[in-house]
Amino acid sequence: MLILMKVGASDAQIDQVCSIIQNRGIEPLILPGEPRRAVGIPASLSHDQRVDLESVLGRLDFVSKITQTSSPFKLAGLEFHPEKTVVQAGNVEFGSGKFVVIGGPCSVESYEQFRKAADQVKAAGATMLRGGAFKPRTSPYSFQGLQEEGLAIMKRVSEETGLATITEVMSADKVEIVAEHTDMLQIGARSMQNFPLLIEAGKSGKPVFLKRGPSATIDEFLLASEYVLNQGNPNVVLCERGILAMDKTYMRNVLDLNSVPVLKELTHLPVVVDPSHGTGVASLVAPMAKAAVVAGADGVMIEMHPDPNEALSDGSQALDSEQFSALVGELRGLAEYCGLRI
Ligand code: PEP
Ligand code: MN
Repeated sequence: MLILMKVGASDAQIDQVCSIIQNRGIEPLILPGEPRRAVGIPASLSHDQRVDLESVLGRLDFVSKITQTSSPFKLAGLEFHPEKTVVQAGNVEFGSGKFVVIGGPCSVESYEQFRKAADQVKAAGATMLRGGAFKPRTSPYSFQGLQEEGLAIMKRVSEETGLATITEVMSADKVEIVAEHTDMLQIGARSMQNFPLLIEAGKSGKPVFLKRGPSATIDEFLLASEYVLNQGNPNVVLCERGILAMDKTYMRNVLDLNSVPVLKELTHLPVVVDPSHGTGVASLVAPMAKAAVVAGADGVMIEMHPDPNEALSDGSQALDSEQFSALVGELRGLAEYCGLRI
């Protein structure tokens, strides 16, 4: 519901509208806008609540109009929040006009491997370090990640290098421990609709990097983000990481770059592209990362490994240090061309 105030309505009159709403146990949102301001109600209302509020608020002579909102994305959508959100994770900002490059291996495999990768990521000029400790693998017989030991390595390497980190959390009961060891919680594609996990990540207040499910529609993706946002956690970054491919001969997924401008039309949340999982093939990563800049993304997440042939997971899509560094250089040029800083 949207309560449009008359032109020139005072702060006291806005407050009066807000307290009528609050007295019914509902949280209002004051929406900026000159010269006409509005108050929004993001929560879905029952029929009785709607009728009651319409009749009470409709009697106030400083209220101009009451309308029902159409967007199902009450918090992620632009209707109630037209200004872009900037999400801060450690010393990294998403959505601030500075293009973010997240780099690192698919998995944290050992202190030596991860420290080496971190040094290479830093030397290349990338801004954030990734690495999986809890790995969602198709087969239970594949490497599952170093788990708690991987988290400890990540924290140590972050302290040693000063790089902010991001790692995946796969279940609600691990949110607390993962949050203690990293700057940003990644919710993987397979977990996009793990609602208890989304709620717990929301409650943690920690920045959340939400990956699009392999067969999720844009609406499902945004509604998943809504689960985090409505726990009072506004720090959500959306990540396009490819959707199911019809032809898997040459690629693992189809990187849906359409989703970047589509999301930009629908939401104020920052959007990052992951061309590594989006293609699954190392040689396709650089062209699609560059395309992501031009499509309007706020950053990219790239898998790299000091020795891709030895990687315990996703070696075929990992760049080596040289390729990674060359790509960051190219992204820098392109980002500047697109009016972004990097
Ligand atoms: C990952 O980033 O390592 C990962 C498993 O990604 P996704 O959830 O997109 O498959
Ligand atoms: Mn991976």
